[in-house]
Amino acid sequence: MITGKNYIGNQLSANGNKTFKTFNPLLNIENQWEITEASTNEVDEAAALATQAFKTYSKLSGAKKATFLRAIADEIEALGDELLQVYSSESGLPNGRAIGERGRTLGQLRAFANHIEEGNWVDASIDTAQPERKPMPKVDLRKMNVALGPVVVFGASNFPFAFSTAGGDTAAALAAGCPVIIKSHPMHAATGEMVSGAVIRAAEKTGMPNGVFSNLNSSGIEVGQQLVEHPNVKAVGFTGSIRGGRALYDLAAKREEPIPVFAEMGSINPVVILPQALRNRADAIAKTYSGSITLGTGQFCTNPGLILGVKSEGLSKFVQTLAEEIVKVEPSCMLHPNIAGAYEFNKANAISQNGLEVLANYEAEVKPNHARQVVTTVEGDTFLNNPTLHHEVFGPFSLVVQCKDEAQLEEIIFNLEGQLTGTIISDDNEIESSSNIVSALQNRVGRIIFNGVPTGVEVCPSMLHGGPYPASTDSRFTAVGVDSIKRFVRPFSFQDWPNQLLPDELKNENPLGILRNVNGKLSNETI
Ligand code: NAP
Repeated sequence: MITGKNYIGNQLSANGNKTFKTFNPLLNIENQWEITEASTNEVDEAAALATQAFKTYSKLSGAKKATFLRAIADEIEALGDELLQVYSSESGLPNGRAIGERGRTLGQLRAFANHIEEGNWVDASIDTAQPERKPMPKVDLRKMNVALGPVVVFGASNFPFAFSTAGGDTAAALAAGCPVIIKSHPMHAATGEMVSGAVIRAAEKTGMPNGVFSNLNSSGIEVGQQLVEHPNVKAVGFTGSIRGGRALYDLAAKREEPIPVFAEMGSINPVVILPQALRNRADAIAKTYSGSITLGTGQFCTNPGLILGVKSEGLSKFVQTLAEEIVKVEPSCMLHPNIAGAYEFNKANAISQNGLEVLANYEAEVKPNHARQVVTTVEGDTFLNNPTLHHEVFGPFSLVVQCKDEAQLEEIIFNLEGQLTGTIISDDNEIESSSNIVSALQNRVGRIIFNGVPTGVEVCPSMLHGGPYPASTDSRFTAVGVDSIKRFVRPFSFQDWPNQLLPDELKNENPLGILRNVNGKLSNETI
């Protein structure tokens, strides 16, 4: 049953006096559930419980935490079809997508469980003492990653499961040993409550301390601001818009004790189509990209919002076919009237820019909250001189930039903001003679794709989902895959510490059998 209450640790709580409702964009009506916003007291209570829980939770073994993560996955799965229905009624996303995203979410939780059970992730490093060293004896030093403290997680509207309540950030923080406080996304608060219930049941069944997880509702920015400013909070995971992520980053930097904000934000994901590929298969590439631009109503952070090519017959053919193909796609529903409204506004703003030509615009009537896709084109010079054209239009929108030559193409890439992905479409070996383009692109993105589409983010250890600012606030880390755990830890050294008091990861006997750097050599032997 959905109560609309917050979870303050294991307790449902609704002390606030403001309520709101979520929205079904397909039916164009409010959902029935009345959601109560968290009060300032509830924010404080959740933060105090998290700090208390941190004392014991951060000391648990990888095996114990893994049991908790697997139990969360099992409890979410046990919610069955009801959870999928609530997800769809709060997002307009179809059942197939709900099933797929739930699968990804369960997979992430279980992957983190395996990762911490195996244990190598702590990056243990041991330099044993050399008492006879001259002129000074060398001390014994042992280093490993330890949890940062309570983490606040902000979910994104476009991934109600995988980048939300029990999504990647939550799984990473819990795996690291950090209690999590969720600032629930107001568009899918009921989905968030159901998933939170699953997390709490898993915590109780596996004996986790009360406060290891809380879920706070709000329809505005105040609760999120209070959480980021709260002295008990030690890090923030955010997925969403550049505006939101930057505001929270600045807020965290202004605290008396600044804390890291790992914000994964919007991106336009440039796609470079090399001349020979345009000459040989402009039609096929256009058809593929028509699908990628409109996938999920364009509501992906990896949506291809910018396509770059050098003027040629091939590029003209590509542009023509893309225009013909994109209007054949049936417009689909956006997540919420506000997102549909923002799409129309940002699209109109882009289209109103000097020199921008609309290639194709779906013009027929559409149902409420459905997005009309559009592709546009502009000359390289115009693009270079107008920063507005460099910004994300969140939805099924793409801009084809027609560069006068390869030098301009390189200059445009050089001047782009940081991006999550960059794609090169190339025929045969032509990429080998475009190393300057590849280097320029590599310098601006977190992941580079060869002959594919940027949409679709594989969850695996080698994935890098992040990139230079503003794709993320810290390009050294990924938000997807088990390596994202590194955002929520800090390295910590023990000097001359008694062996029996060291954590198992650093003991001479190596009881966990993990791989450690011992005096400069990787080894899982005892010392
Ligand atoms: P959003 O509007 O930024 O909202 C994300 C969360 O941040 C919400 O809970 C929101 O709360 C809160 N928030 C926003 N501004 C805030 C502020 N100034 N102070 C405090 N809290 C604030 O983003 P969204 O609409 O959910 O998601 C769409 C965006 O996310 C797109 O730009 C997309 O590209 C990006 N995205 C990025 C990734 C990635 O991995 N890089 C993945 C998915 C989506 P309220 O709603 O209550 O204001």
